[in-house]
Amino acid sequence: MARRQKAIPQGIGNAHPLFAARAENGEIWDVEGKRYIDFCAGIAVLNTGHRHPKITSAVARQAEKFTHTCFQVVAYESYVELAERISSLAPGDFEKKAFFMTTGAEAVENAIKVARHYTKRTAVISFDGAFHGRTFMAMALTGKVAPYKAGFGPTSADVYQAPYPSALHGISIQDSIAGIKRLFKYTVDPDRVAAIIVEPVLGEGGYIPAPAEFLRQLRALCDEHGILLVADEIQTGIGRTGRMFAMEHSGVVPDLTTLAKGLGGGMTISAVVGRADVLDSIPAGGLGSTYAGHPMACVAALAVLDAMEEEQLCARSEALGKRLRDRMNALRQRVPEIADVRGLGAMTGVEFCKEGQPAPEIANAVKAEAFERGLLLLTSGTHGNVLRIMLPLTVSDELVDEGLDIIEQILLAH
Ligand code: PLP
Repeated sequence: MARRQKAIPQGIGNAHPLFAARAENGEIWDVEGKRYIDFCAGIAVLNTGHRHPKITSAVARQAEKFTHTCFQVVAYESYVELAERISSLAPGDFEKKAFFMTTGAEAVENAIKVARHYTKRTAVISFDGAFHGRTFMAMALTGKVAPYKAGFGPTSADVYQAPYPSALHGISIQDSIAGIKRLFKYTVDPDRVAAIIVEPVLGEGGYIPAPAEFLRQLRALCDEHGILLVADEIQTGIGRTGRMFAMEHSGVVPDLTTLAKGLGGGMTISAVVGRADVLDSIPAGGLGSTYAGHPMACVAALAVLDAMEEEQLCARSEALGKRLRDRMNALRQRVPEIADVRGLGAMTGVEFCKEGQPAPEIANAVKAEAFERGLLLLTSGTHGNVLRIMLPLTVSDELVDEGLDIIEQILLAH
């Protein structure tokens, strides 16, 4: 830890004072041999668990063949096959295409680039509490100021924020839609808006699922004004919410979708998938990056898609989510500081309040004590008062219960 502090800037956060030695499925062992249950799944990445054998062997086989050719220079099969499969899985009954980048933020940047180019408009609307990444456009789209935006400006221009609906926080669907209409009336003409980008479940913003009716009204507003709807499924995608794409819960079809995290099973890959006519509006050379759609990551992603299907991990995500929320709701009867238990599929948030006010100190205390007891947890939310549970979808009920027992014991002793 002392070497870490000396060598690494503090801006690279440090959620847990732990150094990994090895990991398997839902467990990590540190360099001193202590075992931890991983309720973070990396950071909502390992939907298929640590070192899924299908994924590690696909990567090892690829390493024997070739480890890199830039896809724009020399193509390879796995990139094309992955684009075909992601396009056929993504919502929408129209011709779709997909291309790959390396990180979530890059997928967001590229979705907005495409939307601007296609619509010939520049403005973009995102939501309060949204998190879209740490590059300049992604930062501009992100709602929370500190630590993500403060002091880094100017970020990308022509970006506006609307309220995200949240019943617990007193923001109705109507409030949110009215917020967008207010922007249209006073701040940005809708004819200038290229895209509205929305997380179907607010991730860093506290695991708040968007009501289906809100997404339907958002789609209608976009249609009315020729605006592209971009679903940021970087955290929600690939089964985390019980469907391959969280937008499937609402039946609302976005024009473009961004994916990352779960897609690579731990290898770095992100995607933009959606309307072929929109994506094809960019001339050759306008998209791409040296390492984008890396061959090792493409084969990993193909193995992820196989594992999701063969092991029925979407259904497992639903079952895990129910198990988590049933248990946390039962605990809520005995712990009044639990203000809300919510989520979609395995994506579960537990919000703490005290005397009606956000209580980040409780969420942080649970996280810190869970760490001592061998359970890794993270917090999120505008006020940092939400425990978010991001299990690998491949873990056993026994491991889940062992982790939940730890949370329960901490909260009951509190
Ligand atoms: N969008 C969403 C919804 C995310 O949750 C994240 C990361 O947490 C990002 C974008 C940014 O992804 P990355 O950290 O890979 O750049």
